[in-house]
Amino acid sequence: MQLVIFGPPGVGKGTLSDMLSNKYKIPHISTGDIFRSEIKSGNSELIQYVEKGLLVPDMVVNKVVEKALKQENCRNGFIFDGYPRTTDQAEFLENALWKLKKSISLVLNLAASEETIIERLSARRNCSKCGAVFNLATMKPKKKDICDNCGSSLAQRKDDEPETVRKRIQVYRQETSTLIDYYKKKKLLFDIDASKRPKEIFNAVVKVIEANIKKE
Ligand SMILES: [Zn+2]
Repeated sequence: MQLVIFGPPGVGKGTLSDMLSNKYKIPHISTGDIFRSEIKSGNSELIQYVEKGLLVPDMVVNKVVEKALKQENCRNGFIFDGYPRTTDQAEFLENALWKLKKSISLVLNLAASEETIIERLSARRNCSKCGAVFNLATMKPKKKDICDNCGSSLAQRKDDEPETVRKRIQVYRQETSTLIDYYKKKKLLFDIDASKRPKEIFNAVVKVIEANIKKE
Protein backbone atom coordinates (compact mmCIF):
# COMPACT_ATOMS: atom_id res chain seq x y z
CA MET A 1 0.00 0.00 0.00
CA GLN A 2 1.50 3.30 -1.13
CA LEU A 3 0.17 6.29 0.80
CA VAL A 4 0.84 9.99 0.45
CA ILE A 5 -0.11 12.36 3.27
CA PHE A 6 -0.82 16.04 2.62
CA GLY A 7 -1.53 18.76 5.09
CA PRO A 8 -0.33 22.14 6.30
CA PRO A 9 2.42 22.40 8.92
CA GLY A 10 1.15 21.51 12.38
CA VAL A 11 -1.84 19.50 11.22
CA GLY A 12 -0.44 16.23 12.59
CA LYS A 13 1.03 14.47 9.54
CA GLY A 14 3.96 13.02 11.47
CA THR A 15 1.85 11.60 14.31
CA LEU A 16 -0.68 10.06 11.92
CA SER A 17 2.03 8.63 9.67
CA ASP A 18 3.71 6.94 12.64
CA MET A 19 0.41 5.42 13.79
CA LEU A 20 -0.32 4.11 10.28
CA SER A 21 3.23 2.82 9.97
CA ASN A 22 2.73 0.76 13.15
CA LYS A 23 -0.59 -0.63 12.06
CA TYR A 24 0.29 -1.55 8.48
CA LYS A 25 4.01 -2.32 8.99
CA ILE A 26 5.14 -0.04 6.20
CA PRO A 27 7.76 2.68 6.68
CA HIS A 28 6.96 6.33 7.27
CA ILE A 29 9.21 8.25 4.92
CA SER A 30 9.55 11.95 5.53
CA THR A 31 11.72 13.85 3.09
CA GLY A 32 13.24 15.72 6.04
CA ASP A 33 14.45 12.40 7.49
CA ILE A 34 15.83 10.99 4.24
CA PHE A 35 17.59 14.27 3.52
CA ARG A 36 19.24 14.15 6.93
CA SER A 37 20.39 10.57 6.47
CA GLU A 38 21.65 11.26 2.92
CA ILE A 39 23.62 14.24 4.21
CA LYS A 40 25.12 12.11 6.97
CA SER A 41 26.22 9.52 4.43
CA GLY A 42 27.87 12.27 2.37
CA ASN A 43 25.57 12.89 -0.61
CA SER A 44 27.57 15.83 -1.98
CA GLU A 45 24.98 16.84 -4.58
CA LEU A 46 22.40 17.38 -1.85
CA ILE A 47 24.86 18.89 0.63
CA GLN A 48 25.81 21.77 -1.68
CA TYR A 49 22.20 23.02 -1.78
CA VAL A 50 21.40 22.48 1.86
CA GLU A 51 24.62 24.14 3.05
CA LYS A 52 23.89 27.26 1.03
CA GLY A 53 20.30 27.25 2.28
CA LEU A 54 19.02 26.89 -1.29
CA LEU A 55 15.85 25.15 -2.35
CA VAL A 56 16.79 21.62 -3.43
CA PRO A 57 15.85 21.21 -7.14
CA ASP A 58 13.24 18.62 -8.11
CA MET A 59 15.83 16.53 -9.92
CA VAL A 60 17.92 16.08 -6.78
CA VAL A 61 14.91 15.44 -4.53
CA ASN A 62 13.54 12.89 -6.99
CA LYS A 63 16.82 11.00 -7.10
CA VAL A 64 16.90 10.71 -3.31
CA VAL A 65 13.28 9.55 -3.26
CA GLU A 66 13.80 6.96 -5.96
CA LYS A 67 16.70 5.53 -4.01
CA ALA A 68 14.50 5.26 -0.90
CA LEU A 69 11.74 3.54 -2.90
CA LYS A 70 14.11 0.78 -3.93
CA GLN A 71 15.08 -0.07 -0.35
CA GLU A 72 13.97 -3.42 0.97
CA ASN A 73 11.75 -1.85 3.66
CA CYS A 74 9.53 -0.31 0.97
CA ARG A 75 8.73 -3.65 -0.62
CA ASN A 76 5.20 -3.74 0.82
CA GLY A 77 4.57 -0.04 0.55
CA PHE A 78 5.27 3.24 2.32
CA ILE A 79 3.79 6.39 3.75
CA PHE A 80 5.18 9.57 2.20
CA ASP A 81 5.05 12.80 4.15
CA GLY A 82 6.46 15.96 2.57
CA TYR A 83 6.69 14.55 -0.94
CA PRO A 84 5.58 15.14 -3.66
CA ARG A 85 5.49 18.94 -3.36
CA THR A 86 4.98 19.79 -7.03
CA THR A 87 3.16 18.17 -9.95
CA ASP A 88 6.54 17.51 -11.57
CA GLN A 89 7.52 15.49 -8.51
CA ALA A 90 4.14 13.72 -8.57
CA GLU A 91 4.68 12.70 -12.18
CA PHE A 92 8.16 11.51 -11.40
CA LEU A 93 6.87 9.46 -8.47
CA GLU A 94 4.19 7.86 -10.62
CA ASN A 95 6.76 6.87 -13.18
CA ALA A 96 9.25 5.57 -10.61
CA LEU A 97 6.51 3.43 -9.03
CA TRP A 98 5.36 2.20 -12.41
CA LYS A 99 8.87 0.84 -13.00
CA LEU A 100 8.49 -1.11 -9.76
CA LYS A 101 5.00 -2.29 -10.85
CA LYS A 102 3.37 -0.17 -8.16
CA SER A 103 1.16 2.88 -7.94
CA ILE A 104 -0.12 5.36 -5.38
CA SER A 105 -2.98 3.73 -3.46
CA LEU A 106 -4.42 6.77 -1.70
CA VAL A 107 -3.63 10.40 -0.98
CA LEU A 108 -4.88 11.61 2.39
CA ASN A 109 -5.47 15.33 2.62
CA LEU A 110 -5.49 16.45 6.26
CA ALA A 111 -7.38 19.66 6.83
CA ALA A 112 -7.87 21.86 9.86
CA SER A 113 -8.67 25.54 10.29
CA GLU A 114 -5.87 28.05 10.64
CA GLU A 115 -6.99 28.79 14.21
CA THR A 116 -6.81 25.12 15.24
CA ILE A 117 -3.30 24.82 13.85
CA ILE A 118 -2.13 28.05 15.47
CA GLU A 119 -3.52 26.88 18.81
CA ARG A 120 -1.73 23.54 18.51
CA LEU A 121 1.61 24.96 17.46
CA SER A 122 1.60 27.70 20.05
CA ALA A 123 1.56 24.96 22.72
CA ARG A 124 4.69 23.36 21.31
CA ARG A 125 8.01 23.75 23.16
CA ASN A 126 11.39 22.59 21.89
CA CYS A 127 14.60 21.73 23.68
CA SER A 128 17.39 23.76 22.14
CA LYS A 129 19.99 21.23 23.25
CA CYS A 130 18.67 17.73 22.41
CA GLY A 131 15.80 18.61 20.06
CA ALA A 132 13.03 16.95 22.11
CA VAL A 133 9.55 18.34 21.44
CA PHE A 134 6.92 18.88 24.13
CA ASN A 135 3.39 20.20 24.05
CA LEU A 136 1.82 22.16 26.89
CA ALA A 137 -1.59 20.71 26.04
CA THR A 138 -0.86 17.08 25.23
CA MET A 139 2.71 16.26 26.31
CA LYS A 140 3.76 18.51 29.15
CA PRO A 141 7.34 18.42 30.46
CA LYS A 142 7.55 17.18 34.07
CA LYS A 143 9.08 20.50 35.20
CA LYS A 144 7.83 23.74 33.71
CA ASP A 145 10.02 24.87 30.78
CA ILE A 146 12.65 22.19 31.46
CA CYS A 147 13.50 19.29 29.11
CA ASP A 148 12.71 15.85 30.63
CA ASN A 149 15.59 14.29 28.71
CA CYS A 150 18.51 16.59 29.29
CA GLY A 151 17.44 19.27 31.77
CA SER A 152 18.01 22.20 29.38
CA SER A 153 15.46 24.96 29.07
CA LEU A 154 12.59 24.75 26.59
CA ALA A 155 11.57 27.48 24.20
CA GLN A 156 9.10 28.16 21.45
CA ARG A 157 10.53 27.98 17.96
CA LYS A 158 10.24 31.12 15.85
CA ASP A 159 8.51 28.85 13.31
CA ASP A 160 5.69 28.12 15.77
CA GLU A 161 4.78 31.72 16.56
CA PRO A 162 1.30 32.69 15.25
CA GLU A 163 2.51 35.18 12.63
CA THR A 164 5.02 32.72 11.18
CA VAL A 165 2.49 29.89 11.28
CA ARG A 166 0.00 31.97 9.30
CA LYS A 167 2.67 32.59 6.67
CA ARG A 168 3.71 28.94 6.54
CA ILE A 169 0.10 27.85 6.02
CA GLN A 170 -0.30 30.40 3.23
CA VAL A 171 2.86 29.19 1.48
CA TYR A 172 1.68 25.59 1.86
CA ARG A 173 -1.72 26.37 0.30
CA GLN A 174 -0.14 28.16 -2.67
CA GLU A 175 2.38 25.39 -3.14
CA THR A 176 -0.02 22.46 -3.04
CA SER A 177 -3.29 23.64 -4.60
CA THR A 178 -2.40 22.39 -8.10
CA LEU A 179 -1.08 19.15 -6.65
CA ILE A 180 -4.31 18.57 -4.77
CA ASP A 181 -6.26 19.08 -8.01
CA TYR A 182 -3.90 16.68 -9.73
CA TYR A 183 -4.73 13.86 -7.31
CA LYS A 184 -8.41 14.80 -7.19
CA LYS A 185 -8.63 14.30 -10.95
CA LYS A 186 -7.08 10.87 -10.52
CA LYS A 187 -9.70 10.11 -7.84
CA LEU A 188 -7.00 9.27 -5.34
CA LEU A 189 -7.54 12.15 -2.92
CA PHE A 190 -9.50 11.82 0.33
CA ASP A 191 -10.16 14.78 2.62
CA ILE A 192 -9.71 14.05 6.31
CA ASP A 193 -10.96 16.29 9.12
CA ALA A 194 -7.81 16.81 11.18
CA SER A 195 -9.29 19.14 13.78
CA LYS A 196 -9.97 16.11 16.01
CA ARG A 197 -7.69 14.22 18.39
CA PRO A 198 -4.94 12.02 16.89
CA LYS A 199 -6.73 8.75 17.76
CA GLU A 200 -9.97 9.93 16.09
CA ILE A 201 -8.11 11.10 13.00
CA PHE A 202 -6.36 7.74 12.86
CA ASN A 203 -9.66 5.83 13.11
CA ALA A 204 -11.22 7.92 10.36
CA VAL A 205 -8.22 7.29 8.12
CA VAL A 206 -8.25 3.54 8.74
CA LYS A 207 -11.91 3.49 7.69
CA VAL A 208 -11.07 5.29 4.44
CA ILE A 209 -8.21 2.88 3.79
CA GLU A 210 -10.25 -0.26 4.46
CA ALA A 211 -13.08 1.01 2.27
CA ASN A 212 -10.91 2.01 -0.67
CA ILE A 213 -8.01 -0.34 -0.93
CA LYS A 214 -8.46 -3.62 -2.65
CA LYS A 215 -6.92 -6.53 -0.83
CA GLU A 216 -3.85 -7.62 -2.73
ZN1 LIG B 1 16.69 18.28 25.93
